[in-house]
Amino acid sequence: MIPKNHPRYESLILREKIKKANEEGYLADSGMIAHGRGEAFDYLIGEKTIATAHEAIKAAVATFILAKDPVISVNGNSVALAIDDIINLAKVLNGKIEINLFYRTKERVKIIKNLFEKKGTDVLGSDDDELLFIEDLESPRATASKNGIYSADLVLVSLEDGDRTEILVNSGKKVIAIDLNPLSRTAQMADITIVDNIIRTIPLMIEVANEFKEKDDKYLKMIIANFSNQENLKKSLESIKLK
Ligand code: ATP
Ligand code: MG
Repeated sequence: MIPKNHPRYESLILREKIKKANEEGYLADSGMIAHGRGEAFDYLIGEKTIATAHEAIKAAVATFILAKDPVISVNGNSVALAIDDIINLAKVLNGKIEINLFYRTKERVKIIKNLFEKKGTDVLGSDDDELLFIEDLESPRATASKNGIYSADLVLVSLEDGDRTEILVNSGKKVIAIDLNPLSRTAQMADITIVDNIIRTIPLMIEVANEFKEKDDKYLKMIIANFSNQENLKKSLESIKLK
């Protein structure tokens, strides 16, 4: 048990969730390393949602609402930390959810699918679906379900690897990334990068989604037009340097 008054309480709770996911068999060992890298960047931004992330969240939600066929891509880390929030976000934004694992095994996919099904939520990307290769790239990094990521016009990725993001971007899809490291290849390649911890970002996206659902397309398009990912990433980096 982690005592509630421990100065690193929140962070230790997240570590416990990641450890548990690894023990339950759906998080690859390298997922624990990815979490550690995220922790370091979270420390540097002050473990709070920075102003640039709030801006990126607005642009991301506006883009999501205007998309025709949006999909939320999930992996072991995102499920371990934020499964309930992901389900709620998909509901509010009418998006599909697809399992997409960098180190894909039948076992891991099955466990994650069960976790969602126990909560009454359908997910794509399991072995029950028709899986295709994006752009015919015969790599396990390019698999996508036919009715999900393969045909999506927008994919929300979190804690994603750069190789995979590159494949999505090169195939002409819009990519929104949640990534604490503004320097990662994923952060640099995505159309909209939210430099924040997934556990803080998704609840904020839900709030903004509820507000933006009432707005007209013109308003949403203006939010998107006023957003520059390059500028936003630059400012995010500056907010790290100031500390
Ligand atoms: P890239 O492959 O994009 O160059 P990388 O190889 O440095 O990045 P990966 O392990 O492939 O890193 O991807 C995981 C990414 O997820 C890292 O950039 C890490 O900072 C980020 N990350 C880890 N935990 C969280 C979290 N809780 N919320 C948001 N991002 C996170
Ligand atoms: Mg990587």
